[in-house]
Amino acid sequence: MADSYDFLVLGGGSGGLACAQRAAEYGARTAVIERARLGGTCVNVGCVPKKVMFNAAGLAHSFHDAREYGFKLPENIEHGWQHLKQNRDAYIKRLNGIYARNLSNKSVDYIAAEASLADAHTVIAGEQRLTAPHVLIATGGEPLVPDLEGADLGITSDGFFELDELPGRVAVAGGGYIAVELAGVLRALGAQVTLFYRYESVLRNFDATMQQGVLEAMANDGIELRPNSLQPRLRRTDAGISATLADDSEHGPFDQWLWAIGRRPLTSGIGLEAAGVEVDDQGFVTTDKFQQTNVEGVYAVGDITGRDALTPVAIAAGRRLADRVFGGMEGRHLDYRNIASVVFSHPPVGTCGLTEAEAREQHGDAVRIYQSEFVSLFNGVTTHKPKTRMKLVTIGEEERVAGVHIHGPGADEMLQGFAVAIKMGACKRDFDDTVAIHPTSAEELVTMR
Ligand code: NDP
Repeated sequence: MADSYDFLVLGGGSGGLACAQRAAEYGARTAVIERARLGGTCVNVGCVPKKVMFNAAGLAHSFHDAREYGFKLPENIEHGWQHLKQNRDAYIKRLNGIYARNLSNKSVDYIAAEASLADAHTVIAGEQRLTAPHVLIATGGEPLVPDLEGADLGITSDGFFELDELPGRVAVAGGGYIAVELAGVLRALGAQVTLFYRYESVLRNFDATMQQGVLEAMANDGIELRPNSLQPRLRRTDAGISATLADDSEHGPFDQWLWAIGRRPLTSGIGLEAAGVEVDDQGFVTTDKFQQTNVEGVYAVGDITGRDALTPVAIAAGRRLADRVFGGMEGRHLDYRNIASVVFSHPPVGTCGLTEAEAREQHGDAVRIYQSEFVSLFNGVTTHKPKTRMKLVTIGEEERVAGVHIHGPGADEMLQGFAVAIKMGACKRDFDDTVAIHPTSAEELVTMR
């Protein structure tokens, strides 16, 4: 006999957990089925361990500056990769435990099993057969490995978090968030890093000025940049992993080759066909603005939907879905416009709203740009002088701020408040009328002329 629930959630990552808990708060009898560790990509092999590594890299950068602030540090400061990994892994383990306790505190059943849909309202979870009128697909994604000769000699971000030691020579292939972030971490901790990307730039969805800043900062930090690198074929030699590109150029040897060329949805084996759930041509589950699939009572949130693959987006979409389905908040859904995001490069880059190019395409001459480039006060006394770049994109006579872009130290912590302003429809005048906090970098955003 099947166990019946009000709500079954396939996948215990950010989106699934948030939605399940909110549903349970409304009294829905809910179960989450997860085959791996609770917390999904973000907690286990994504945002959280990455941020720990970003912090370590930030400390490494600060040692250079510390000397110029008068600290006497030994010439060679050693770093214990294994020590860091142990602390990081222990922290993640604690988080896994906290996530399990949170579920139990909210009376959500946690079933550690592989889940697949037998039909739209029946889920097979290991040996169990479960039914519910409402089912959420939140199984997330996994890193892509290209179909190229020798590609399996490389690792992905999953493998990066398993590394027991810092590789001496690393190739990173890709031009997005993960490529830029992990190239920066590896370089800061002492590896020789070569970044291979397909076109002239990285982060091509970002504002062009920010792209330029990121490329410049990476080059200054000693990352070797290899634009226009197409179709690397890999082979193992005695000296390591070597690559031949489409133009027959030879590269390497490297100790590790890291693929960071995007992620694909985890849809195989979860019974989408049995349930009649449609996917698009890239395999993402198609949903409307209410996270509703083509099958009534079956929803999807997070990376599986292919929309803004960001943890807070999955959480926000999941909570709003539960509000609507179980909390009686008719019409509630996530507004996917103006979602802020940060790439944890060194220094980080943050973006919210339209880039200059997007704004010009949509609004032509009605666009007015304000921008600034400077070295922050912190680096006034140091020889390392990372530049900070800021840009405001405004539209129309009232100069509504449609985009905020920041590349520089502290950009990650600066952006959130400005994202609120954009969401509220702030105009340049509102920025001008806000008295600056001095001396900070952020004050530049309210003093631009
Ligand atoms: P991204 O989509 O950010 O970047 C992957 C990039 O790799 C593409 O933009 C593309 O850039 C390039 N690429 C794609 N296919 C190939 C190929 N065959 N060969 C070479 N290059 C290729 O994916 P990531 O894997 O970096 O990250 C996945 C998602 O996870 C991100 O989109 C983001 O949503 C999320 N994420 C968020 C983070 C954050 O918020 N800080 C951190 C990490 C991930 P191009 O077209 O320019 O070649």
